[in-house]
Amino acid sequence: MSSKIRILVPVKRVIDAALKPRINKAGTGVESKGVKFSMNPFDDIAVEEAVKIKSEHKAAVESIHAVTIGSSKAQDILRVALAKGVDTSSLVDVGDAEVEPLQVSKILKKVQELKDSNLIILGKQAIDDDSNQTGQMLAGLLGWPQATNASKVKINDDLTVEVEREVDGGVEVVKASLPLIISTDLRLNEPKFVTLPKMMKAKKKPLEVLKTDALGIVIEERLETLKLEEPPARKAGVRVSNVDELIEKLKELKAI
Ligand code: AMP
Repeated sequence: MSSKIRILVPVKRVIDAALKPRINKAGTGVESKGVKFSMNPFDDIAVEEAVKIKSEHKAAVESIHAVTIGSSKAQDILRVALAKGVDTSSLVDVGDAEVEPLQVSKILKKVQELKDSNLIILGKQAIDDDSNQTGQMLAGLLGWPQATNASKVKINDDLTVEVEREVDGGVEVVKASLPLIISTDLRLNEPKFVTLPKMMKAKKKPLEVLKTDALGIVIEERLETLKLEEPPARKAGVRVSNVDELIEKLKELKAI
């Protein structure tokens, strides 16, 4: 393999960020019937960044590969990633199984090995489970450095990477050589909308389907969901016209 950059972008299909998730009638999970699904917003940012890096460093970047782990329905987000400029893609078909972050990380490690990727750019968190674990576990499994919550990424001529991270009280800049894992924060970039002609063209781009048994992975669940509840409805607010009235109200509510 060459010393060029081969980017891997894991993308997850989640309930569209603009929708409010509802618990299903049986109370066993989130209602998914008749609901719009899209690419996890942080993964959209990861795709955008990978495409930007490739367009700015044409000679240095060999390829961008997107991977999703889910049911066959998740092909739709791979098509979007391909339309946005990703070169090739894989669906790791796990049917309707819920795959926990450790399992996702183990599968991603296999895909990294298959594609010989040396830069993994993924979302800092999936908005459905809010786990914020996959990137960190994958870095642990691979033994790679990780720059989490990136707000700026700079690729140097010697292929070292500088990442800015917004931390309490300022911006931290970290530097690492490849191989490296970067997780994306909201301010890294603003993903562009994908046009219909690009979506049509993307139909010709490669989308392979992989099975977990062929990857030597057995899906196991370590977590059991005991209960799922909607958050309590917020009480209506009260408008006060001055500070005295506010203090009176707070006393009434025994808040002070
Ligand atoms: P999480 O640790 O579940 O919050 O997810 C963090 C990131 O891991 C996501 O933003 C994705 O980039 C990646 N990821 C999680 N689950 C999947 C999945 N099923 N398929 C592909 N990528 C995933």
